Amino acid sequence: MILKPFLATLIMFCIKCGSPAVAENFCERCFLERNRLFEIKNFSLIVCSVCGSHYSFEKGWHKSSAENEILWRVKTKNRVTGKKITLRHVGNKLLASVQMTGFISPLRKMKTETASVEIVLRKQKCDNCIKISGGYYEAMFQIRGMKKEEILKTIKNEGVLSVENKDNGYNVKFIKKQDAKRIAKDLKDIYHVKGTFKLVGEKKGKRLYRSFYSIS
Ligand SMILES: [Zn+2]
Ligand SMILES: [Zn+2]
Repeated sequence: MILKPFLATLIMFCIKCGSPAVAENFCERCFLERNRLFEIKNFSLIVCSVCGSHYSFEKGWHKSSAENEILWRVKTKNRVTGKKITLRHVGNKLLASVQMTGFISPLRKMKTETASVEIVLRKQKCDNCIKISGGYYEAMFQIRGMKKEEILKTIKNEGVLSVENKDNGYNVKFIKKQDAKRIAKDLKDIYHVKGTFKLVGEKKGKRLYRSFYSIS
């Protein structure tokens, strides 16, 4: 009884439970109870009703999984060493259970924490799907000649809207002219590529051109 005030000046005690304190006047258990490993808020997600792309203000339309959308919104300043997400669809909502394991400085004891997140899904058509449904395309490859199969094989699906059999060859439509331009540039090293432009109309006073590439 006489020793206690004397000891208190040497060893700090947890201000909550009286056990020896290890960090910020709290014991290990109380410190871990008070400090969050991570934080995540409920959010809403715009999803393309056709292709499943996601939309966010920062990234625009992009391909991503619900798990990544969650991880991207997790806020933490701690070292996270493990994560597990389980998802459940309920009506127009996605209910997620986010479990993370990690360390809250300065403690070396691992903490596992679980948070529930409610994601409201809102369906909309993405820019690409709107263009596709309107038959819109900005560029076309006209692949002809002996090497047509080989050329078609080298074109991956990046930005390709459709491939049609035409005049003993293939017509490949691209939604965006930048995709066509980039691929045409690569093909130029091996094949014969010739590009032209055609005026296809006007929109809001701007002339719209379509790129055509004959490739053989
Ligand atoms: Zn305590
Ligand atoms: Zn889409």
